[in-house]
Amino acid sequence: MNNFLLSIIIPVFNEEQNIEPLLKRLIPILKNYQYEIIFVDDGSKDKTPEMVKKQVNKNNRIKLISFYRNFGHQMALVAGYGAAHGDCVITIDADLQDPPEIIPQMIDKWQAGAKIIYAKRNERQGDNFFKKTTATIFYQLINFLSDTPIPQEVGDFRLLDKQVVEFLNNLHERPSFLRGLVSWGGYPTEFVFFKREKRLTGQTHYGFFKMLNFALEGITSFSVKPLRIATYFGFMSGIFGFLGIIYELIRKAISPQSFVIGWAGLFTAIMFLGGIQLITIGIIGEYIGKIYQEVQKRPKYIIKEKINI
Ligand code: UDP
Ligand code: MG
Repeated sequence: MNNFLLSIIIPVFNEEQNIEPLLKRLIPILKNYQYEIIFVDDGSKDKTPEMVKKQVNKNNRIKLISFYRNFGHQMALVAGYGAAHGDCVITIDADLQDPPEIIPQMIDKWQAGAKIIYAKRNERQGDNFFKKTTATIFYQLINFLSDTPIPQEVGDFRLLDKQVVEFLNNLHERPSFLRGLVSWGGYPTEFVFFKREKRLTGQTHYGFFKMLNFALEGITSFSVKPLRIATYFGFMSGIFGFLGIIYELIRKAISPQSFVIGWAGLFTAIMFLGGIQLITIGIIGEYIGKIYQEVQKRPKYIIKEKINI
């Protein structure tokens, strides 16, 4: 039953103190399986790569890919998927916010036929009110805007069948929002529930602006509805303007000698329209930016070294 290879991908960015505690909890769970653990060092500035190498010397199933600089969490996962040989592949954070104890449940569901098993947070004790609320708003917004359903309360802790990994590896686009791409394929999906703990040590790498950028990335990667909404706004203000002209013509016809009033109304109308125009240009710019990046076809990351791979 257990003659398959399980790949575990762990993106790490400045996690020197978490490597050892993570492996202490992870390896006992994996001992019933054939496994490989791929650390992807996303340009850490601390001793993370050294800490991983120390573990590689003890256990040759541990592997390492290092980047020259920080290419971001998503690109680290992409590099991991590219190197993984497993029949199923699990991605997990290094800070022990994702409990490795639920891995056997994920594997059971995979063996029962699911191709994607998401770990879903039923409690987010480790995250503050702000992070929880912004995450909820974001997932509601993206699901409203996008045609691809993106599951809520699901991060990058998941199991993928080899087939889904191959699909990701063969994409030609820049995979900047993996959780959307994964669900885009429509593969049979299952969930496993867990409680999200606090980060073991260190700080989150996702501050407010990084989260906002990630949200924009997610929305613009999976939907062109913002462009359509902009068009509708344009139509609406056009119709308002037209009605205004007709009203003015009728009023002039009825009482020709009126005086100029209503500069406040004019001022708000200009501000409102100006705002909508700027937002619309911004939205168009977002998509042009994406097109620009795609046509540049730059490599997704640059590898500095590979160990055991
Ligand atoms: N990470 C990464 N590159 C980055 C930021 C984060 O590889 O640029 C890794 C990080 O080491 C961790 C995982 O991605 O293993 C999740 O990051 P973090 O815990 O900061 O995010 P949060 O859990 O707060 O959303
Ligand atoms: Mg974390």
